[in-house]
Parts: sequence; structure tokens; C-alpha cells
Amino acid sequence: MSELRWKAIDVAQNRTIPIIQIPEGKVTDFYGIHTFTDEAMKTLLSPDAYKKVSNAIKTGDNIEGNVADEVASAMKSWAISKGATHYTHWFQPLTGGTAEKHDAFFDISFDGHAIEKFKGSALVQQESDASSLPNGGIRETFEARGYTVWDPNSPAFISYNSSGTGTLCIPSIYFSYTGELLDAKTPLLNSTIVLDKAATSVANIFDRNVEKVTATCGIEQEYFLVDKALYHSRPDLIMCGRSVFGHSPAKGQQLEDHYFGSIPPRINAFMVDFEIEALKIGIPVRTRHNEVAPGQFEVAPTFEEINLACDHNILLMDVMKKTAQKHNFEVMFHEKPFAGINGSGKHNNWSIKTDTGVNLLGPSTKPKESLRFVTFLVNIVKAVHDHADMLRATVATAGNEHRLGANEAPPAIISVFLGTAMTKVLEDIENKEIIEIEKGENAYIKLGLNRIPSVLLDNTDRNRTSPFAFTGNKFEFRAVGSSANSATPMMVLNTIVAKQLESFRKEYDLEREKDPSKKEGIILKILKRYIKESKNILFEGNGYSKEWEDEAAKRGLSNIKDVPKALEAYISDQTVELFESMKVLNKRELHARYEIRLENYIKKIQIESRVIGDLAQNHVVSTAIKYQTRLVQTAKSLIDMEMKEEAEPILNIIREISKHVNVISKNVKDMTEARKKANNCEDITEKANIYSNEVRLFFDVIRKSVDKLELIIDDEDWPLTKYRELLYIR
Ligand code: ADP
Ligand code: MG
Repeated sequence: MSELRWKAIDVAQNRTIPIIQIPEGKVTDFYGIHTFTDEAMKTLLSPDAYKKVSNAIKTGDNIEGNVADEVASAMKSWAISKGATHYTHWFQPLTGGTAEKHDAFFDISFDGHAIEKFKGSALVQQESDASSLPNGGIRETFEARGYTVWDPNSPAFISYNSSGTGTLCIPSIYFSYTGELLDAKTPLLNSTIVLDKAATSVANIFDRNVEKVTATCGIEQEYFLVDKALYHSRPDLIMCGRSVFGHSPAKGQQLEDHYFGSIPPRINAFMVDFEIEALKIGIPVRTRHNEVAPGQFEVAPTFEEINLACDHNILLMDVMKKTAQKHNFEVMFHEKPFAGINGSGKHNNWSIKTDTGVNLLGPSTKPKESLRFVTFLVNIVKAVHDHADMLRATVATAGNEHRLGANEAPPAIISVFLGTAMTKVLEDIENKEIIEIEKGENAYIKLGLNRIPSVLLDNTDRNRTSPFAFTGNKFEFRAVGSSANSATPMMVLNTIVAKQLESFRKEYDLEREKDPSKKEGIILKILKRYIKESKNILFEGNGYSKEWEDEAAKRGLSNIKDVPKALEAYISDQTVELFESMKVLNKRELHARYEIRLENYIKKIQIESRVIGDLAQNHVVSTAIKYQTRLVQTAKSLIDMEMKEEAEPILNIIREISKHVNVISKNVKDMTEARKKANNCEDITEKANIYSNEVRLFFDVIRKSVDKLELIIDDEDWPLTKYRELLYIR
């Protein structure tokens, strides 16, 4: 086994950087060339068909058969001209990833001729026998049919394989024969509809011209890069996506010399390459930099409409994975691939904007508009306060569990950071007598609403420890795991905000009926109450600190650290009521999601536990014993030569090794028993709890002894590629 390690190191140290095909011209010349953009549609469709499709996209109405045929025909010619041979509906089942089933354009006509075929009906809808995709008990196996339906809001694109042929990918939604939603995208789309309605009705209080409000999202993606040969020398990386063992290297991230440092050439080549591929399919990547941990990096695009942003993020992950192969890297999206150094997250920057071009979370220089801004801000704080547990549940996964609550990432406690300036504004609204002020700008001035934009501009206080932070003109949900599909947390955020804005508008209307003259006073009165009700979720301090945990407990905020417990929010009465009343998901669909996520958690912990057992026993203990045998022989010879004293240090090492071998063997055995107990359990919740509370507890104990052995045993013999090699050879 150690042979594999040394071979891998040798290969990794002798890599050459592949030559990258840089497209000619400016980025704007090749941006989106592999995407069936609105522009492409405009050029290739008849004006009438183009108008109908555009309208359908705006209104969400169905696209008529003949129009679909025309679009399909145009898409086919466009795709074939760019080297595509196949097409697929590209959708997001509840596995967390994406799914595709490729069909060839090529077909044989009824009279035996070879033709290229792609009909409107195939564009719009496809049946998929996907009984192996997770459905949380919704689809009985005898009714394994599901449907995928084209989502014209997200443009089709061509995905190329290494041989250079392409597949036309058609972003689609996915649901069961009986109509239940089986994907991440459809609920997100539903949530954008309810958010639009509720936010528009509130925006109309301030401006009647607003007809539509859209959520915008920009997703910062963190990742690790490890040389492919080194990665493949570690069975745990292959099977679990993270290292289950590995002693911290002497140099970790303590010097803080990696963050924003100059990007190593081999990494830079990879970045340039995947960015080109991403830009070609219309993903507007903009930022790249080193992250805090060695081997860790970040990419961020310009924000887009939320459905598109979420599609683009998972697509980008896919592009990165494929491009990494060309560069002999493995890109790791696991939330915590290496113990002792920072894990990876996915910061979801979120805002809402009107069709009149206003960012509703962007403070304005006009005091009147500042009231609108504060109204939206306070409603969002209230929404997060009222539904913190559900937000927490959306980020609860086996991988993210290592990160949340550890001393490096937003804690498992959901809190909101606003910054000094906005905290002060909210305090003023809460405490000052404002209700009596009826007209004029006096009220705003008294509340400091006239000063918001300037204070925010100067206000550079950023708080990286907050899971949900206001960053000047948007909120940033930072608790999302790096491997997650953002569609789910963003769907929940949209829905809870929509629900809250709906209540606000109702309250406002009721008050207005009573007294139509005091618009501003009414708004402020309601906001005052909201602030009182939700201010215990506001926190400006260090979210990583122990003090905050204690303080949060005093405030009564939840701090749910384990996944099975956190997931329960999916099926609480409050959640079911919320999602059913907003028509985003129904009870059955929520229960299905709960089960799928529990199931996923169980499987991940089960796999990790098996890998830990196998590596500990068959790689580490066996190596330790071999090394120990050598030591025993040496000690024996010394003693034979009457050099007892000289033999003593060696005997100590022998004892030390025995101690760790015993700990490992005993705990691996007990862990296997715990796993048996869990696996015999019929009830899925209980099973998950056993995995979380019993099986998982052995991981750290075993690891501790393995990592100690790593320090004792001859480096030549150690079978597992070490952290310093995984993180620093590139
Ligand atoms: P930071 O200060 O957090 O580094 P950036 O300006 O780099 O902020 O933005 C981080 C991400 O937030 C980017 O993807 C950016 O496009 C996105 N972003 C900026 N404005 C908005 C907005 N109004 N809505 C959603 N995302 C936004
Ligand atoms: Mg940021």
C-alpha cells in the first residue's frame, strides 16, 4: 500500500501543465456561444414564434404544439451545427446532483432513411422511467413513471465530452406520474412566483408602477484541488469525498499565507480553462482567488435571476469536475475534506429587484425610498426569525455537519448580522416615538432614514462568522454547504419571505382601512412590532465563540447540531402549513424530502463507517504490526547484546503502538456492532439517530489513534498519502 503512496507522489511531482485553448477575441465574443440564448432564439425563430415563446416565459403559460415544433427544429439545427449529436432533458432529482438521459438526434424514418429528428413534443416533455431515483416513498415501484418538462426560463446549452461531440441539454423540471414534485427546481420556481406576488404587493405601497419582483442570487463557490494521483491513492477520498484519517501537517493555515495569495501556475491554468468553458455556456464567472486553507480556492459569478443562478451553480460544478480531469486534478466540493483546516461553503448572496430596476435591498439617497428599503429588510429579518429552523434544515447534511458549529464556519445557530448602521436604524425605529408623525420628511430624518446610504457606504464592518449577513445591498446565506444544490435553501428563503410580506401587506391594508391618512406611521408601527418580535435573532458579535452559544441559549434560539434532529423541521406542522398555504410544496412532498435526506444521511455515515473500519484495520493496523515486528527484532537483538538500557526507548514505542492498535481494534469492532444495531432498525428516524448518536461517535476515537500512529510509524511504510502531500504537492 505504501508503494501506491510513493508512486502517486512521484507522478504528482512530475506533472506538466496542459496547453489551454484560449478562444480568440474578447470574452464578450465567446460568452454564451454554447447556449441557446434569447438572441439565438430571436435570430432563428419566426417573429411570431419568438413572441409566443417570450410571452410564455414571462407568464409561465404553456407553449403551443406548433410553436414548440418550431423551437425544437431551430434548437436542433443550432445544436447540430455546433457538433451536438444527442439531446437530453437535464434535471435535478432529489439526489442533490443532476440527471440526464441522452437520446440521439439520429433516427431511422418509417421508410428506412437515416434522419435527424427532434420534435416539439420531445423538447417539451419526456417520460422517464426513473424508479431508481429517490422519491421518498411517493412513487410506488409499479408506477415508476416520472415526467420531465422543459423549463424555458433557463436556456438550453451544449455540453461537450472529451471526444468533442456534444449533447444538447434542456433544463427541465421533474415530477411523478401522480403530479408530485420530485426535483429541486420546481419548488424553487414555485417559490419565485409567490415571492413575486407578495413582494410586488408590498413594493406597490411605495410605487404603483412595479409589476414584477424577481429574486437575484450570486453564488460564491469554495472548493479544494488535489492532484488526481494523490487523490486516488486515498480510498477515503474516493469513497467518502473526505479524508477520514490524517494528522495535521506541521504547516496548516496558521501563517494565513494562502488567502488571496498569488495563484500557483498549475491551479491558474485549471481556473482559466474551466472559466472559458463556463463562459461559453453562459455562466458569468467573474472572481477567482485562493481561500484560507492550503489547496482551497473560490470562484464566483455575477449574480443572476435566482433560477438561472442555481442552475448555473450546479452546472459550473460539473464543468469544474470535467475540466479538472484534463488537468489531472480532482476538485472536491465536500464541506470538510480535511480535519483541522477550513472546510468549504457556498455563500448564497440573495436580493430582490423590481421590474422598474430597483434593488429592494439597496438603500437609497431618498428618505422615502429608505422606508421601503427598511420595510423589506425588517420583513426579511422577521421571516428568518420565524422560520430559522427550516432554514437550518435545508443546510443539514452529513458533510455540512462537520462544518457548522466547528470553529470556522457559521454555527448551527441561525442568526442575522446587520452591521452597526442598520442595527442603529432598527433600534431607533423600535425605541423612538414615531407613530404620531404623520406627514413630511421629518419622520425619516428623526429616524435617521435620510442617512442610510452614506453610513452603509462607509460601513465596512463585515462579519464572516454570521450565517445570514446583510452585506450592503443583499443578504448572504453562508451556512449552505459547498456540495449542496442552492435551489433548496433558496426556495425556502423565497417562501418564508413571501409568506412574511403577505402578512405584512394584510396588516397594512387593515390599518389603512381604519385610517387612510397615516401611511408612513402605519408602516413604522408594524415594523416596530416586528423588530421587537424578532430582534433576538440579531447578533453582531463573533458567531464562532462559546459565549455566543451560551447567549443564544439564553435567548431561546435553536442550536441543533445533529442532522436527523435538524431535518425534523421539514415535517413540523408549522412547515407544512407554510408550504401548503404558499402552494410551494405539499405535505407528501415535504415528507418525501425529509425521508430522502435522512436516508442520504444514513447512507453517507454508513459508508464512512465502513471505510474507517477497513482502512483502520486492513491498512493502518497491519502496517503498524509489521513495523512493530521490526522493532521487536531490534529490541531483542539489543537485549541479546546485553544493551537493556538502549532497548528501553524502543520498547516504549512498541508499547505505544500496541496501545493504539488495541484502541483501534476494539473500537472498530464496537462500531461494527453499533452499525448492525442501526441496520436492524426498521424505523428510518430511529436508524438515523443511531447512526448519528452511536456509530458516529467511534469516528473520532479511532481517528485519534490512527493519527498518532501516523506520527510513530516509519514514513517509508505509512500507507496513506499524508496531508502535507495532498495539500501541498501541485
Ligand atoms: P463580497 O463583498 O461578498 O465579496 P461581491 O461583490 O464579490 O461581494 O459579491 C459576492 C456575490 O454577490 C457575487 O456573486 C455578486 O454578483 C453577488 N451579488 C452582488 N449584488 C447582488 C444582488 N443584488 N443580488 C444577488 N447577488 C448579488
Ligand atoms: Mg461574499
